[in-house]
Amino acid sequence: MDYYLGVDVGGTKLDFSLADETGKIVAHERFDSPFLPISEQSEDGPAQFACDVLFDDFPRAERVRLYLEHQEAAFLQHFGSVMNGRKIAAKGVSLCGRTWERKGKIFIMGGNTPLCFAEESGEGKGVLMLDKKAPPPPETAPYFIENFQVEAANDGTAAATAQGVWYKAKRKIPPAKTGYFIVGTGFGFGVPGSSAPLEIGHVPMGFIPDLLWQKCGCSASRKTACAENFASGRGIQSCARKLLSIKDDSQLEEMSRFFNQCNPAILGGEKVNLAELVRTSQLRGKAVNAEAVMELAGGRADGLCVFTANLAAYAVALCAVSAAQLLGLKVIGIGEGVAIKNPWHVENIAKMVQALAKDSVMLPPGFKVELTPVKNISKYAALSLVAPRPFYPSWAEHMEGDAPTTF
Ligand SMILES: [Zn+2]
Repeated sequence: MDYYLGVDVGGTKLDFSLADETGKIVAHERFDSPFLPISEQSEDGPAQFACDVLFDDFPRAERVRLYLEHQEAAFLQHFGSVMNGRKIAAKGVSLCGRTWERKGKIFIMGGNTPLCFAEESGEGKGVLMLDKKAPPPPETAPYFIENFQVEAANDGTAAATAQGVWYKAKRKIPPAKTGYFIVGTGFGFGVPGSSAPLEIGHVPMGFIPDLLWQKCGCSASRKTACAENFASGRGIQSCARKLLSIKDDSQLEEMSRFFNQCNPAILGGEKVNLAELVRTSQLRGKAVNAEAVMELAGGRADGLCVFTANLAAYAVALCAVSAAQLLGLKVIGIGEGVAIKNPWHVENIAKMVQALAKDSVMLPPGFKVELTPVKNISKYAALSLVAPRPFYPSWAEHMEGDAPTTF
């Protein structure tokens, strides 16, 4: 039996997992991400990250790759014996940033990748994560077959790949016709096998009045109507805070008039009076976070929260229809915190999508949006990049259940 190694490099954590060919996870260990901040910039020197601590004798452009190799060796020394002498046939790597390959070297660049580790890749600045052409170091080489396969992708694509394995096995939908929406702290999108950036979070939402625009990572100097400013947990929080902070009723009244002339789906079919909603909101004078907003919205207990959740849902729904239209998707599964904790929110999104897609002869027939069927997608994101096709059905079974390890 062959084994498969999954490596998930996040902004704060680094996960290794080992699965057998049926998709059963037999070992898992978590380390600090190479990008975990250790100390801030000071008079003594620049900010330090986890990979600096171990490899300060090496140039910074080399440290992340060396750190990943070092922790992989530690993981295999701890758990390699579970393979009973069998070997790893392939390694899947999920990376927290835009990912590209240049002459066998894998680079990333993203919100969590400190620029101090970047070098010129030949296709723009990037952080070197691994070198597919370099032989594995002597400590790890015995655990791999010769010329083992390596697949790397950004974390959105990797999560989408795991979900795609499930849709292929259970519903016979080709993975390239499935999409995965991340509705958590952030808002992201992936499609299995896609190398396009798919930066759905920065698609501008035309229906949002300027007053609600927010600062966004994509355009440091100005506020934008980017979808993630409304669709994500972060967006829900700042949108509710912004509405509560408006003291001038005439601004709220003007905005109410604007929304009342928009597509009624945004408001759940009702007229809105934002001044009234702000005045009566239970969140007035309280510390506002996305969880509180969604809890009150879910219980239909607070009109302002319901309105904010509807805006979030409508932003996701517009993006879902746009994505399906551009890529011919048959299904989009929605996962991560905000979606999983609030299934009613996903149902609301699905209803809005149905209304937007109604009678379309251009969208794939039966196109739908639903809560992702893969409960433990993060455990399988990296591994699924190299999951062996003949075993997709049993991988899908393992993805539905709880794997024996905790992530
Ligand atoms: Zn943006």
